[in-house]
Amino acid sequence: MKNPFEKMPTVLTADEIIDKAFRRAEKAASALTPKGGPRAKARQREELRIRTISNVIRDNLKKLLDRTPGVSELPPFYRELVDTLVDRDQFHRSLAHVNWAIKTIRNLEQRYVEKIRYSRDPDEMSRLRRQFYGRVADVIRDIADDLEYLNQARNVLKDLPVVDLNLPTVVIAGHPNVGKSTLLRVLTNARPEVASYPFTTRGINVGQFEEHYLKYQVIDTPGLLDRPLSERNEVERQAILALKHLGKVIVYIFDPSEYCGYPIEEQTHLFEEIYAEFGEFPFIVVLNKVDIANEEKIRKVEEFIRAKGLEPLRISALNGEGLEELKKRVIELVKPMVEEQAKRIMEKELRKYREEL
Ligand code: GDP
Repeated sequence: MKNPFEKMPTVLTADEIIDKAFRRAEKAASALTPKGGPRAKARQREELRIRTISNVIRDNLKKLLDRTPGVSELPPFYRELVDTLVDRDQFHRSLAHVNWAIKTIRNLEQRYVEKIRYSRDPDEMSRLRRQFYGRVADVIRDIADDLEYLNQARNVLKDLPVVDLNLPTVVIAGHPNVGKSTLLRVLTNARPEVASYPFTTRGINVGQFEEHYLKYQVIDTPGLLDRPLSERNEVERQAILALKHLGKVIVYIFDPSEYCGYPIEEQTHLFEEIYAEFGEFPFIVVLNKVDIANEEKIRKVEEFIRAKGLEPLRISALNGEGLEELKKRVIELVKPMVEEQAKRIMEKELRKYREEL
């Protein structure tokens, strides 16, 4: 899936919208060659100005509404992220105000065009048109704060990560430098894409691999699942918890060589925290860098993991050791979920097909 806010346009300020509409109205009026006597000519010109202003403004605002999804309709992953970034009530209220402005301007347009049609005096027509201008400007100024808020929201929301919510997803966790991004690269062989994630400066890395015609997505989250959750602020915590809607399997990486710079005690501590938070998911625990780690330390970590009832796996992201086994384990865990999903999709298609018969 694409970032749901990808198409959200830049939101003009109230003054910019007014300027743009008024300029366009003048341009349209001067390009017009009205027919008939002075009264008919004035009527055509003023009507065109009013219609143009209304159209330009409504098109602009409507485009904003059409291209901005409501937060409540989003899939849970995006919904939770959006909730950490913008105030959902304020966001919806601002969209509702924009909708109100569209309707109000439409009403004003109809009322003033009608008044001008009944008027017989060009001066009065011009006065009515100016009155319309004033009323429209008031309406737009009434939503000035909303427009500004929506534009600020847009600037944050356009950076939401692009991930495929339909693919079974493996989320990689572990301290910095344990080999997360190396593992992602070797597992997914293609160059992973860096998707921006407004909660970390480094974004998240997304890669895919295919096995027996099924695709799997692997996500590495530098800066997210690599520090104790207890050290996080509220926004970061939520951004981390949103990953729950994405991950089907967590691959947790230890570096028993300690070359990453974190002693084993610290690594087990982080593991405890993440396991407590994400324990409802299947965990695959790998010991990376076994090509350089000493056997004693590897055993120490393995004992710790086995005490949790998990079976650790030795790998080397660098020389490829254990990677086939890792893929096999991922697929074994994810396959039932994929099949379940495939079944659901089939049933849905079947229902649709039957309904069409
Ligand atoms: P991340 O911060 O967890 O993403 O860690 P990186 O993938 O950037 O790896 C940190 C360092 O460890 C890099 O210099 C890698 O080349 C190295 N590294 C990763 N995996 C292995 C491995 O299996 N064996 C060895 N010897 N080095 C590794």
